[in-house]
Amino acid sequence: MQKLIGIDLGGTTTKFAFLDTDGNILSKWRIKTDISDDGSHIVPNIVKSINKQISKEDYKVSDFLGIGMGTPGAVDRDNGTVIGAYNLNWRTKQPVRKQIQAGIGLPFVIENDANSAAMGEYWQGAGDDAEDVVFVTLGTGVGGGVITNGQLVHGVNGGGGEIGHVTVVPDGFQCTCGKKGCLEQYASATGVVNVAIDMAKDFMGNSRLKEQIDSNQKISSKAVFFLADQGDILANQIVDRVCKYLGLALSHVGNTLNPENIIIGGGVSNAGNTLLQPTTRYFQKNSFPSVRDSTKIKLAQLGNDAGVIGAASLVLQLKNDGAIGA
Ligand SMILES: [Zn+2]
Repeated sequence: MQKLIGIDLGGTTTKFAFLDTDGNILSKWRIKTDISDDGSHIVPNIVKSINKQISKEDYKVSDFLGIGMGTPGAVDRDNGTVIGAYNLNWRTKQPVRKQIQAGIGLPFVIENDANSAAMGEYWQGAGDDAEDVVFVTLGTGVGGGVITNGQLVHGVNGGGGEIGHVTVVPDGFQCTCGKKGCLEQYASATGVVNVAIDMAKDFMGNSRLKEQIDSNQKISSKAVFFLADQGDILANQIVDRVCKYLGLALSHVGNTLNPENIIIGGGVSNAGNTLLQPTTRYFQKNSFPSVRDSTKIKLAQLGNDAGVIGAASLVLQLKNDGAIGA
């Protein structure tokens, strides 16, 4: 049985895994992403690392069906290129597929990182055998992936599934995308801090979080959820606001697609039920009855492995599409 290779390329680390075709991870490893010199070392380092691991584990290249990779930036899937991945210093178009296929000699498929993680949760995680699944990742930013009938939705220009840029507050906080009031500005790790600083201004009661903000201490989204669990009133108001906007955005997604599962992942989702319960309540409040009764909001299950697992699943899709043989 041939094996799969999954790569999850990030601004600080690059994660790799060998998997079997049932989606089980056989081995995994990671390297530091070297973004120096306009990110020109990134792909050569990936090639080197995979070739080294293949010989280290006594495999041959022909033991593998192909390689899938999730990456930040704008992906051209047809040409296998990436552009505008600023956390990798990739400003110009990168011929990633050409370089990796030449360096390793295996079929290669590339996808946006949030879509790749969505495929991972769909295949092996909280997707739970459903064919219609939406994934939203709350990290430094907010990413999204939409899967209908087992297929990722890309849209006409690759902008499909950008749930982070659903407007939740008309004319709200300025977003890096150029418009205002995007979910990302309220529910990402930095978004939670934005909301905290904004709400602390007018808060009059007793709050440890308020004291920390007023004395210019650096706060994090993790600290906000922690203090909310401790009973801090301001922290609880902030969490409620964040969940209100998240639940509202997810209700728009639900009312549009009525997926079986909407899965919340990323670092902010480590808050668990403190995030999930109020978000579900606001989701249900804003959902059309048939959606409310059927679409479930869940926490992601695969953590950091979602990216490599989803990337590997893309290779199987290539095979099923007849693009590669075996
Ligand atoms: Zn935006």
